[in-house]
Amino acid sequence: MKNKKKKSKVLKVVMGSSVGMIVMSLIIIIPVLMVLDFFGANITDNYVENNMDYADMYRETLNSAIKGGYGYVPLNRILYFYLEDEKLTFLEIYKDNIDLEDNRLKEISEVCTLPKYKIYDGCKEIDEDQIDEIQNKPFSPPVDFSKVTITSFFMEERIVFGTPGVHSAWDLAAGNKTPVKSVCDGTIKKVSFKYSENVTDKNGGGGNQIYLECPIDEDLTYTVIYAHLYPGTSKVKEGDSVKAGDELAGIGTTGYSTGPHLHYQVQVNGENVDGMSLIDFSDKKPPFNPGYNPGYNPGGLTPYNPNPNFPTRP
Ligand SMILES: [Zn+2]
Repeated sequence: MKNKKKKSKVLKVVMGSSVGMIVMSLIIIIPVLMVLDFFGANITDNYVENNMDYADMYRETLNSAIKGGYGYVPLNRILYFYLEDEKLTFLEIYKDNIDLEDNRLKEISEVCTLPKYKIYDGCKEIDEDQIDEIQNKPFSPPVDFSKVTITSFFMEERIVFGTPGVHSAWDLAAGNKTPVKSVCDGTIKKVSFKYSENVTDKNGGGGNQIYLECPIDEDLTYTVIYAHLYPGTSKVKEGDSVKAGDELAGIGTTGYSTGPHLHYQVQVNGENVDGMSLIDFSDKKPPFNPGYNPGYNPGGLTPYNPNPNFPTRP
């Protein structure tokens, strides 16, 4: 019944409206789309169709927010509010959606209690697809986020070497040999370092790679793929046990890569999931000390001024 109502609302919107409205409607009816296979496309909770329109603004916001010590807010949550009112900035929505106590995404029902948002239709009837529970955050960061620039987000539609595609992971750019770390207490499943030169190879796929298995409980195991690693930097071998925060290798640009970066990909049973949503950012509390202002970095890609209060994880 509820789904039917949403569908008719969406179809009306799709008939004669802007791209923005269509994107909003896609967000609203994702569960319906999954049932109806409306576009025959691979649409998941984290996939915002036509996200290229928002990619620059979102990446810029991510880089400002995550380097500023905030946790992670997925694009679909930002658009949930932005498409109600385009006068809101991405960064403003981002901050409003983070619980500063533990740097986690707020339950949407909590965000909707803010006077700014409660007037919106999306808050009068909250979309059941939006997160309304405390999420588990089993991972520590795969890199020191103060050292990287996010150059591509999960499910981003982009063109690489002239070929369009949807990105199945996160790309975190940093200098060659910047350490990449284990996100969990887990086991190294595969170490493939076939490339001895740190150069692009368009037929080279992920280049040098490490596969890490992160068992969470008896029903859930994440597989984490670290790709494009620098030749000769692997500190682990297949079968090794590692602890969260252990250095695994260094960032490089081997394989199908346009520059030094970590391709950070997470899978469950072979399905790609949003690896950023699993990271616990709660120990980045110092930036919220009185007097600290993470600020807004309009350039987004300019070097971050590291804050000495940032603790590094063990
Ligand atoms: Zn990538």
